Amino acid sequence: MNQLIHLTGLTQSELISFSEELAEPAYRGRQVFAALHQRRLRTFGEMTELPKELRAELNERATAASLSVESRYLSDDGARRYLMKTHDNLPVETVFIPEDQRDTICFSSQSGCPLQCSFCLTAQLGLLRSLSAGEIVEQIIIALNDAYGVSVKPPHGVNLVGMGAGEPFLAFESLMKALRIMAAPEGLHIVPNRVTVSTAGIVPRIRELATIPDRPHLAVSIAAPTDEQRNVLMPINKKWPLNELLDACKEFEQSLKRGERLTFEYVMLEDVNDSDEHARQLANLLNRHELRAKVNLIPHNPADPLPYRPSSPQRVKGFRAILESKGIHAFVRRPRGRDIFAACGQLAARLDTNLTEPISESARMN
Ligand code: SAH
Repeated sequence: MNQLIHLTGLTQSELISFSEELAEPAYRGRQVFAALHQRRLRTFGEMTELPKELRAELNERATAASLSVESRYLSDDGARRYLMKTHDNLPVETVFIPEDQRDTICFSSQSGCPLQCSFCLTAQLGLLRSLSAGEIVEQIIIALNDAYGVSVKPPHGVNLVGMGAGEPFLAFESLMKALRIMAAPEGLHIVPNRVTVSTAGIVPRIRELATIPDRPHLAVSIAAPTDEQRNVLMPINKKWPLNELLDACKEFEQSLKRGERLTFEYVMLEDVNDSDEHARQLANLLNRHELRAKVNLIPHNPADPLPYRPSSPQRVKGFRAILESKGIHAFVRRPRGRDIFAACGQLAARLDTNLTEPISESARMN
C-alpha cells in the first residue's frame, strides 16, 4: 500500500502526466480525474469507461482509497463524525454538519496536533503527522458519498471548514494543493470561496495566504485578550504574540474581497476568559488594531479530562453585548455533534462502541 500512488492527491495535469507515463493518451488522465472527483469513485473497478487492462494496471500501481472508515457516529442533531485510518494506521476525523441552507464538512489537516492548546482534546494526541493533499480531499469524498450517495451531486452545494484536528497552516502545502484539486470544475468543483480555514496563529502563513489570489476565507483562534492569558491557553502565543498576530491580521484585511470578513474564534471557558473585563479587553484589542473582523463565540465543548466548563448562555450573552456595544460584531456558535464527540475541540480519535454504527449501514440509509 505504501508504494501505491494515491491518485486522489494529484491535480488534473499531474494525472494526465501519470497516464502518459503509462503510455495512455491524455484523455485517460482526464477520465480518471472525473471518475475520482466528479463521480467520487474510490475503486478503479467501477471506472468501466476505462479499458480492463488499464483498470488492472491502476490497481497494481495506484490507489484511490488510502483512508478507511473505522466507525461512523450519528448525532441527535444530524451531524455525523467519521473516524478514519490512514494507510499507516493513524486516526483522521471528519465531521458532516447538515444545515438548512447548505451543509458543511469539517475536515482535518493533521493526524493529532502539535499545538498544546489547553482547552482542546486533540492536543492530547500530540502530532502524529500532517496529512497529504490526497488524504484531505478523500475526507471530503467519503463524507459526501455517505451523506448524499456515491456520485450524487450535493443538492445545494457544500461549505468546507478546516477546523478539524490539526493546525492547517502547519500542513500548508497539502492544504493548498487539496484546495486546488477540489476547486476544479471537472471534479468536485468546491471553490476556495466556499472554504474557511482556521489557524491558531501561524503568522508567516497568514501573511502568505493574503498573497494567494484564489484563497479560502480565514478564521483565527484567539481565545484570550492578553498575552499573559493566551500564553497559558494557547502556547503558540509565545512564538507569535497577540500584537504580531493582529498586525498580520490587519495586513490580511487588505486582501479581503467585498463583503468578506476575517473571523476571530473565541472559545468561552467559564470563569477563565469570559468576564466583562475580558470582553472589554478583547474589544479594545481589536479596535486598537482597527480590525473590522467579526467574533464567533464558541462555548467550550466538554472534553474530559480537560478542566474547563462552558460559559453559561447568560454569560455568553453578556459578553457578546459588551463586544457589540464597542462596535464588534459577535455571533454565538451553536454547538453541533457534542453527543458524539464531533464538536470543536472534541476530536481525539475517540472510539466509543456505544455510539458506533457500522459504516455498511450507511449505504442503506442513502
Ligand atoms: N488548529 C486550528 C483549527 C482547529 S480548532 C485552530 O486552532 O484554529 C477549531 C476551533 O475550535 C478553534 O477556534 C479552537 O479554539 C476551538 N476549540 C478547540 N477546543 C475547543 C473546545 N473544547 N470547545 C470549543 N471550541 C474549541
